[in-house]
Amino acid sequence: MVAPLNLHEDRLFSSDPTQRAIARRLYAEVRHLPIISPHGHTNPQWFADNIPFSDPAKLFITPDHYIYRMLYSQGIALESLGIPRIDGGAVETDSRTIWRLFARHWYLFRGTPSQIWFHHVLYEVFGIRETLTEESADRIYDEIAERLRSPEYLPRSLFERFNIEVLSTTETPLDPLAHHKKLRASGWKGRIVPTYRPDSVVDPEFEGFAGNIRQLGEITGEDTSRWPGYLAALAERRRFFASLGATATDHGHSSAATFDLPSSECEALLKKALAGEMTAGEAERFRGQMLTEMARMSIEDGLVMQLHPGSYRNHNRDVFRGFGRDTGADIPMRTDYVHDLKPLLDRFGNDPRLSIILFTLDETAYSRELAPLAGHYPVLKLGPAWWFYDSPEGMRYYRERVTETAGFYNTVGFNDDTRAFPSIPARHDVARRMDCAFLARLAAEHRLEEEDAREIAVDLAYRLAKKAYRL
Ligand SMILES: [Zn+2]
Repeated sequence: MVAPLNLHEDRLFSSDPTQRAIARRLYAEVRHLPIISPHGHTNPQWFADNIPFSDPAKLFITPDHYIYRMLYSQGIALESLGIPRIDGGAVETDSRTIWRLFARHWYLFRGTPSQIWFHHVLYEVFGIRETLTEESADRIYDEIAERLRSPEYLPRSLFERFNIEVLSTTETPLDPLAHHKKLRASGWKGRIVPTYRPDSVVDPEFEGFAGNIRQLGEITGEDTSRWPGYLAALAERRRFFASLGATATDHGHSSAATFDLPSSECEALLKKALAGEMTAGEAERFRGQMLTEMARMSIEDGLVMQLHPGSYRNHNRDVFRGFGRDTGADIPMRTDYVHDLKPLLDRFGNDPRLSIILFTLDETAYSRELAPLAGHYPVLKLGPAWWFYDSPEGMRYYRERVTETAGFYNTVGFNDDTRAFPSIPARHDVARRMDCAFLARLAAEHRLEEEDAREIAVDLAYRLAKKAYRL
C-alpha cells in the first residue's frame, strides 16, 4: 500500500484567501531566482572531486545533526545511526540498516522543519512520490541510490540544477583550502568560496588550542607565541582565504562579549592561554579581544564579520566525550548584545568600511536589543532566523519582531547554514515562502503597497544576501 507524498502549492501561506492570493503573486516573482548561499557547512571536496554521493544514509543521516539529535532524544543510540566514535569503537556501517531505522522513526519529525525540508528533497530532487515508512523504506532507498549513481546527481550537476549562484563553505585558518584550490583550477563555472572561521585559534577553550597556535605559526612562519606575531599570522591567513574568494569571517563564540584591552594585557593573556593556565573569565576576555581584533582586520581587508553567539556547545558531556563536537548537543542560551558589543562598537561602530552580521539563538533579544542596535549602528546588520529558528515559526517571529525597528534593509536575506547539500533548495524555498507570506499580510492590511512588497520579496530572496556578503 502506497501513501502518496504531496507538496501543496500553497504550503506555508496564510489560509486567509486575500493574503494567500497576494502571497502566490509575490512567490511567483521569487521562486526561480538563483540561490545565494553565503553561509553553510557543505564539504568543498564534494564539488572538487565531483564523485557520486555514496548512499541515502550517508547523504541524509550521518552528516546531519538536525536529524540525529531528534532520534537520539528518543533513545536511539548514535552508534546505531553510524555516527563515528572518537575511540574508533564499533558503530553500524550498513547504510540500509541505518536507513530502515530512520524510516521506522520518521514520524518523530512531524511538525518540524526537518520534515518540510526532507519532503521537499524527496519530491523535488529525487522524484519520490510516496511517504517514507518502514514499509516503503527499501523502495525509497533503492530509488535514491539508483539516482545517485547517475551523472545528473553528481555534486556539480546538482549544484547547477539547484541554480546556486554562489555557495560559501566554512573552514578554519589552519585549513590549506586544497579543495578550493582544486575547484579554481578545474575550470568548472560553479562559484564556491571559503569562509574564515577562526574559533579553533582564537578561543583558548577550544580543544587543542596551544597545538593549533603552534600549527598556525608553522603555516605562516610567524612567531605565534607572541601577540604581534599571532595577529600577523591570523591576518595573513585571512588574506590567503580572500585570495581564494572568501568574503566573510564567522565567529561562533558562546557569548557576544567584546573587549578592547591594552596590548600588554593581550600579550599576557596569550601567554596564559598557550600554557593552558586560564580562568574562564580570562578566556572570555581573550575571545572578546579577538572579536575586536577581527573587526580591525576586517576594516583593512574588507571581509564581512558574522557573529553567531549564544550556543552552549557540546552540552552533553558523554556525547562530547564519545563522539566529539557538532553532534546535536548544542543548546541555546540567553545572550546579551547591548553591553557585550559596546567595547567593539565604541572603537569601530561608525566605520563605513566595517560590516558585522549578528545572529542569535536568543529570540527575546530580537526586538529588545538586536533590531534597535541594527536600526542604529551603520556597521550592524541582522542575520536571518538561525538554526533552531530556521523554521516557519522562527522566520515569522523574526520578521514580526525586527521589521518595525530595523526595517527590511538592515537584514541580509536568507542563509541556509546547512550540512545537507540536497536540502539547500528546500531551505531557501521555505524562507522565500515565509517572507512572501509576511509581506502578503502587510499588503493585505494596507500597510505596504503590493508593488513595494514585490520589490522587497526579490531583495529578501536574492539581492540583500549578495550585497551584505559582498558576493
Ligand atoms: Zn553555521
